[in-house]
Amino acid sequence: MSASAAGKSVYDVIVVGAGSMGMSAGYYLAASGVRTLLIDAYDPPHREGSHHGEPRLIRHAYSGGETYIKLALRAQQLWEEAEELTGVKLLERSGVLNIADPERYSYRGRAGDAEQLGVVTELLSAAEIRHRWAGLTLSDPFEAMYEPNAGYLYSEQCVAAYRTLALAHGAELIVNTPVQGITAREESVTVHTAQGDYHAGSAILSAGAWFNTLAPFVQLPIRSVRKVVGWFETKGETFDAGRFPGFTLGSSHGGFYGFPNIGGAGLKIGRHDGGVSWQPGETAAPFGEYAEDEGDLRVALEAFMPSAAGRLLRSAVCKYELTPDEGFIIDHHPEHPHVYIAGGFSGHGFKFSSAVGELLSGLVQGMKPDAADISPFSLARFTTSASPASHT
Ligand SMILES: Cc1cc2nc3c(=O)[nH]c(=O)nc-3n(C[C@H](O)[C@H](O)[C@H](O)COP(=O)(O)OP(=O)(O)OC[C@H]3O[C@@H](n4cnc5c(N)ncnc54)[C@H](O)[C@@H]3O)c2cc1C
Repeated sequence: MSASAAGKSVYDVIVVGAGSMGMSAGYYLAASGVRTLLIDAYDPPHREGSHHGEPRLIRHAYSGGETYIKLALRAQQLWEEAEELTGVKLLERSGVLNIADPERYSYRGRAGDAEQLGVVTELLSAAEIRHRWAGLTLSDPFEAMYEPNAGYLYSEQCVAAYRTLALAHGAELIVNTPVQGITAREESVTVHTAQGDYHAGSAILSAGAWFNTLAPFVQLPIRSVRKVVGWFETKGETFDAGRFPGFTLGSSHGGFYGFPNIGGAGLKIGRHDGGVSWQPGETAAPFGEYAEDEGDLRVALEAFMPSAAGRLLRSAVCKYELTPDEGFIIDHHPEHPHVYIAGGFSGHGFKFSSAVGELLSGLVQGMKPDAADISPFSLARFTTSASPASHT
């Protein structure tokens, strides 16, 4: 990394997109003494990307293999560290209950793989689930994998915490400034905005659902999708935080995830599959524009947790950025090895963002990752890989 490449770089690293991944990277860079500039199109945390409408689940028994499991475990350690450093509550260890119809999906193999890496899991029958969480009206053949050490993260607080930490370590942040283009030379990068150009030795691009606004410099195989979540009134205390865990639920009605009733906000539920495509720059239709926004969520509540199917108390519209295999892209730019790309977090990336920030900070400083082998995140696994750079 050249701090003064071309004789005019002011920064060592520019991070384009200071959301979940970028803000965390900004902290780990600045804390390592790297002169860091973060640029964001909005003022993070904000409601235009993928991180609002907290909370977000953090689970460790992942299906993508050892890399994902190790990264999730590292992420949880780093969330705990960030809590200590900021004194802000970021993580609730509520436990996470992963429920599925075994004819559609079984957690048995996944639990075994995760346990070898130290993740504690319990396999439960429908009767055991009902006995422990009376609000769930599941019958055979449903079963579940429960992770007692998993939980959920206050995602907006997390982004705000990394912002505080990054700035405290000397990172600079420019907000409400969309990046309009990027030019890379052998040892330097110039980032173009309406306010002017910024120069650095290297860059990290972490633009979430808006990634394709960075084309043609980089074009990822991602599809941005409008997603909705709702908070529903619950009866009694069965679903209250402290009693009820975070959950995922795979059924013939779709794949759902949710959270207990935190402080009377209602039980939050979202659907992982489905959603309509969204193009950067479009206004995402408000909740309720499509009948299925509320309808899909209610169907799952009525089928599996009827006493949480009360009034809709609150709703949010957010965005996923899906890769074809729903795995992440963390790699260097195919033409410019000093430019790193972190995108395509496919609706399940938030939990990892602490560890992804640490990883990106190390990669851009030329360190070999030690938390995990990152080859599963390679951009080259997609046939429609990044377009050859046409410098703008
Ligand atoms: C409804 C919903 C529920 C989810 N639930 C979970 C969950 O339970 N657990 C989990 O782990 N994950 C979950 N996720 C996924 C997770 O939130 C995302 O994977 C994660 O937030 C993606 O982080 P990011 O940094 O890529 O995007 P963001 O956090 O959106 O950050 C991208 C940033 O780039 C900025 N930007 C974009 N373009 C430009 C530009 N041209 N110039 C300057 N700045 C730019 C944006 O303003 C934004 O701040 C969920 C997502 C949604 C939408």
